[in-house]
Formats: sequence, C-alpha cells, structure tokens
Amino acid sequence: MRPVALENLMCRLAPQFGERLIDLREAPEQQRRVNQDASHAPPGDGAALVLPKSTAEVSAVAAAAQEFGVPMVPRGAGTGKAGACIPATGNLVVDLGGMRQLLSLRPADQFAVVQPGLITEQLDLAAGAAGLMYPPDPASWSTCSLGGNIATNAGGPRAVKYGVTARYVWGLEVVLAGGEVVRMGRQCLKGVAGLAMAPLWVGSEGTLGLITEATLHLVPAPRGVQTAWLSFASPAAASAAGSRIFAGGIMPRMLELLDDPALTAVRPAVGWPMPTSAAALLVETDAHDMEAARRQMERLCELAAPDGAQLASDGATAEAMRQTRRLVSSSLKALYPQKVSDDIAVPRSRMPDLLEQAQACSRAAGIGASAYGHMGDGNLHVNFLCRTVEERQRTVEVRQALYRWAVAQGGTVSGEHGLGLTKRAALDIEFRPESLRLQRRIKKLFDPHNLLNPGKSYAE
Ligand SMILES: Cc1cc2nc3c(=O)[nH]c(=O)nc-3n(C[C@H](O)[C@H](O)[C@H](O)COP(=O)(O)OP(=O)(O)OC[C@H]3O[C@@H](n4cnc5c(N)ncnc54)[C@H](O)[C@@H]3O)c2cc1C
Repeated sequence: MRPVALENLMCRLAPQFGERLIDLREAPEQQRRVNQDASHAPPGDGAALVLPKSTAEVSAVAAAAQEFGVPMVPRGAGTGKAGACIPATGNLVVDLGGMRQLLSLRPADQFAVVQPGLITEQLDLAAGAAGLMYPPDPASWSTCSLGGNIATNAGGPRAVKYGVTARYVWGLEVVLAGGEVVRMGRQCLKGVAGLAMAPLWVGSEGTLGLITEATLHLVPAPRGVQTAWLSFASPAAASAAGSRIFAGGIMPRMLELLDDPALTAVRPAVGWPMPTSAAALLVETDAHDMEAARRQMERLCELAAPDGAQLASDGATAEAMRQTRRLVSSSLKALYPQKVSDDIAVPRSRMPDLLEQAQACSRAAGIGASAYGHMGDGNLHVNFLCRTVEERQRTVEVRQALYRWAVAQGGTVSGEHGLGLTKRAALDIEFRPESLRLQRRIKKLFDPHNLLNPGKSYAE
C-alpha cells in the first residue's frame, strides 16, 4: 500500500503524465538508477519518479507535490558525488534529464539559453561551432547536465583560468515549491537592478527550486591551445612547480595533478605513451593565436622545471592527455570499489600542507590515499582507497580531522561536489550556527513546507 499522500499525488498526476509517472516499486531498473548517484552514499528509497518535458509540467508537479505534502528531489544526470540527488524514503524524484534542448545560441550577444538536462559538453561543442566556448568543464562533462552543474556550482580543469559555473550564469527560470514559475537575472553581461537572485540558486543543490531554464555566458574560444604533460619526482615537487608558474606571471588554463596511485590506476586505460613518474602535471596554456600559446607554454615549462615535459604534438594527443585526467576517478573506483572521494579546497599556498595532511590522515587510518585534481585552484580530490566497507569506516575520523584542518586554513570541506548527504557531518565544521540558521531561513522563504530536497546540504 502506498501512503495516502503519495497515492493522491499519483492519482492527480497520472492523467497528465501517463507512462512518464512511475511507481518505483514496480520499475526495478528505474528504481536502481534514481536511488543512487556517483557518490559513496548508500542507495536511497524513492517512491515515485516523474519525467517532465516542459516548465509547465514541472510547475504542475511542484503544485501537486505541495498540495499533498510529498517531498521532491530534483535530478539531473545523477553524476553527483555528494548524494545530493538521492531520494529519501517516500520522495518523488523529478528527473529533469529529459529537458535537454539548446533553446537558442546568440553568438553576437555571447550567450546561450538551455534547458537544464542538456549535457555540458554538448553546449561547449555548439558554442565551438560559433567560435565560442562554454568554459566550465567538469571531468564528467560528457555525462553531467547543466542543471546539475548550476545546482552544484561545478568546476573543472579550466576553472583555474576561467572560474566555475557561477561566473557564467546570467539568468535562470526556476519553479518554486508550490509551482510558481520565477524568472531571474538577465541576458546581457551587466545588470545591477535589485537583489542578485540567480547566484543564490547556484550551488543550492536542489533545495530552493527546480531550475527549468538557464541563460549562460559564452566567451570567445581561444584559437591557440597548447597542452603538455610534465613529470615530477613527487607531488610536492609538482606543487612547488605550480607555485613557480603563478609567481612567474603565467596563468595556465589547466594545472591538474596526478599522483602515483592515480597514474597507476589510469595507466591501463591510457591511449598515448604516458611517461612513468611519481607525479605529473597536466598543463595547458591558451591565447588568441597558437604562437602566443606556444610562447606561454615555453615559459611555463622553464618555470616549472619538470623532470620531463611531453608536449602534445597534435589535437588528438592533447585530447588523450585530457581524457587520462578525466578517467582517474573511474579507474580508482574500479580498483577500490569502496573508495571515498573528498574535494577539499584551501588557499593555493597551502597546497604542500594539504598534500602532507592527506598523507598523515592516510597513515593514521592505515588506508592508502590518492590526492589528485585541480592543483591550480587549491582544490584536490583526496581519495581514501578502500576496498571494503570496514576500511571505509576507518576513514571517518581522519576525514573529519582533514575537514577541520582545511577550514582552519580558510578553505572549505567542498570545493565543487557540494554537501549533499555525504558532507552533512561537516556542517558544524564549515558553518557557524548563525550562518546555518540564516541559510535555513532563506530556504524557508522559498520552500516554507520544506519539500525540496529536505535533509540535503544545509537543509533540515
Ligand atoms: C567521473 C566524475 C568526474 C567528476 N568531475 C567533476 C569536476 O571536475 N568538477 C565538478 O564540479 N564535479 C565533478 N563531478 C561531480 C558531478 O559531475 C557534478 O557535481 C555535476 O555538476 C552533477 O551534475 P548532474 O547533472 O549529474 O547532477 P545530479 O547528480 O543529478 O544532481 C546534483 C545536484 O543538483 C540538483 N539538481 C540537478 N538538476 C537540477 C535542476 N534542474 N534544478 C535544481 N536542482 C537540480 C540535484 O537535486 C542535486 O542536488 C564528477 C563526477 C564524476 C562521476
């Protein structure tokens, strides 16, 4: 028997949605799919799934959910690493992945209007055809959605030069709990009228409303890009090289660290002759033409003084190098199925200390660790390499200690994945009580009955 509230909700929505409204107990494949994401959070227990195709349909869902008091969980592509789209018992999953149209692209005005389910890489490809670029490039960009990127304020390797998703969100259309449709922001570069509303939604992890449309800024695509793989004797040596690059006045568009466990894990999947080393930096420079990008790369290599530098001689090798970095997470996961992945960020100058802290935590827990990722942003994925649930349990305390250390440095427990379910235990570390109270008051304003992703991130 379904609870009465859910039964009423299903009866209300069934005539409008037909087969796009699914009782998850009767659909084991969909049940498996929507009860998980790419995090280590345990599977959820959602009751129903709805697959809207338009803003009007999302609005109808939100209105009915509020009328019958059923909590909703917005879902994009389910690649999140914090469990933020995993439904709790009885929740209605609102899957926005099917709303994936590129509604318009205006090269002269440098923006695109998209539906939330559009896959991130698809926008960059469409922008590229018009001589433009959509810079945010999470390593999951071939599978994650723009709505999910906005809701998590996703970053990526190019963030070191171009910044994270927030910088590119000019305007949003959102559906509030209760079904009201609100448009916020603008379709031009500048705009200061009234409160800046759209930024509040960026990183809100589905707790404030359902994003149904976004106006996203595009920038001119640099015509010259140079990619290189720099080898080092240790992550500390790679980190010192990174500091010299910035101090020397070079702004790379990518500065990604791979440490020994990451290199070992990814090696079998690599499609180019990757050198053997204890650590590597994947670096890129870009500029208005190839010659300028090449000069920057020469200077970068002089400053970095690697043990070996391999320049990508053509576009295919450059893409193979980038793909190597993108495959690290899944390659480690294949070897260590219970691995836990953190995304701590600290001021860039604290990077050597973060590497040391990660090693100290690894020793304390007696579990191997890999620290790889966005070194140029001060944001590393510290992974504890667990094969069993028991091993993962042993990391709980050291990870809390790592969070406390990061926050004490002026950093954060999450540089890009969000708090979702998996970082809820760090709420007291990240926020003072008055800050947490204020965030919850803001949520109450938009979602008075706490129906949007309750129990996730900062939400009660
Ligand atoms: C291999 C791999 C590499 C990754 N690399 C990166 C990286 O480099 N940088 C990075 O930042 N992240 C990375 N991630 C994490 C993940 O891809 C991002 O967090 C991404 O933004 C999630 O998008 P999604 O569409 O999968 O969202 P989901 O996982 O479906 O949802 C994430 C959150 O967004 C909310 N949400 C989704 N759509 C909407 C909407 N339309 N309206 C309101 N709320 C919504 C959900 O409720 C949930 O809170 C990686 C993940 C994997 C598996």
